[in-house]
Amino acid sequence: MSEDIPHVLILGGGFGGLSTANEIRKSLSSSQVKITVIDKKNWFMVGFAKLWIIKGTRTFENSTGSLSGLAKKDIDFINEEILQIDLENKNIKTNTKNLSYDYLVISMGAVLAPQKIPGLVENGMNLYDYRESEKIHDKIKALKSGTIAISIMGMPYKCPPAPFEASLLIDSMLRDAGVRESVQIHFYSPAPITLPAAGPEISRQILDLISSEKIVFHESCKVTKVEPNKLIFKDSEANFDLLLAIPPHVAPDVIYESGLAKQDNFIPINRDCKTPYDNVYAIGDVTSLKVTETMAVPKAGVFAEGEGLTVAQNIISKIQSKEASALFDGKGGCFIESGRETASLIEVDMFSGDTPSTNLTESTPEHLDEKLQFEKDRLSKWL
Ligand SMILES: Cc1cc2nc3c(=O)[nH]c(=O)nc-3n(C[C@H](O)[C@H](O)[C@H](O)COP(=O)(O)OP(=O)(O)OC[C@H]3O[C@@H](n4cnc5c(N)ncnc54)[C@H](O)[C@@H]3O)c2cc1C
Repeated sequence: MSEDIPHVLILGGGFGGLSTANEIRKSLSSSQVKITVIDKKNWFMVGFAKLWIIKGTRTFENSTGSLSGLAKKDIDFINEEILQIDLENKNIKTNTKNLSYDYLVISMGAVLAPQKIPGLVENGMNLYDYRESEKIHDKIKALKSGTIAISIMGMPYKCPPAPFEASLLIDSMLRDAGVRESVQIHFYSPAPITLPAAGPEISRQILDLISSEKIVFHESCKVTKVEPNKLIFKDSEANFDLLLAIPPHVAPDVIYESGLAKQDNFIPINRDCKTPYDNVYAIGDVTSLKVTETMAVPKAGVFAEGEGLTVAQNIISKIQSKEASALFDGKGGCFIESGRETASLIEVDMFSGDTPSTNLTESTPEHLDEKLQFEKDRLSKWL
């Protein structure tokens, strides 16, 4: 390969990174651009598959695609940890390599930080950690009576509807086991409504949906610490037998060390997904893209994917010496399973006007099929 070929280096092989890499390769051959993806994991899984592992209808092994599949597309994959992002010297350091680039795409996602809530690691389980999904399944299966607490412990968190969907799937597991009447499900959120990003009307519909299954929603509950079998809030407390937590999210340490984001925040971007550095872009959960003064684009795979497509178009234009003016459109949809073999779809247009426009469809078996197809499509077209 000629040394003159531009090199696109993509940090992170999740939704954003895989969408960017594949979109560029669709337009430009390996004689026109070299593409490298780095990830410390060697697999990709759509986030919602974790809920199916909890439910017991999936295993980890049959929910993942191997990143070695990128080789088929002439996309190089380096399975190493990114240790340093040196933007001044255009150098990325991994365990064994120093890599340079012409274009850099940072798509390293958000990191779960349970250690930020005192007592959580010792006394609760992490609903979002794939390494705990099977254990959570076993715990729910073993529960014959008592109280399950589902607690969102920081904002923003990935896929805002997912904890509600989890509560509905857990409700269905308990129903199937014949113990629902003797197990209470309590849902605690720091927000005043169920889904602030989707607005008050959809939040009310989600509240109705979970309330109809006797899942009790507690608003504005900010957890300060966890004790054995007890959640401690600012002004109150609540008992549980099993705690399933959505821990606070932060960016990876190397992002803070690079200076791209302030501690505990995410990389600020606009709809062009540019950083202050030339030809360096950031996309997905590692970023914060403001929609209004108080609202950002939610952390979700569909949005990471859409931002990846935007960046890919701009990099392709630049390589072809055309104007690079694509902007992320802010459109996406997220399925919510009801636990009754149906799903609804929340459709969002983040930049439709002064506030985002949102719509929640009816819950139907067809939307559940579409959700399965969504996963199949990503695994087959990206890997
Ligand atoms: C339970 C659950 C359900 C969800 N459901 C949905 C849904 O229905 N729809 C939807 O759109 N989204 C959903 N999501 C959210 C979705 O999974 C994320 O928003 C999406 O993965 C973000 O994409 P990303 O590319 O920004 O980050 P990620 O997909 O997290 O990818 C980041 C990658 O960077 C790698 N990385 C990070 N640091 C390093 C390092 N130092 N060195 C090397 N590699 C590194 C990671 O290993 C990872 O593979 C769900 C999430 C969860 C947890």
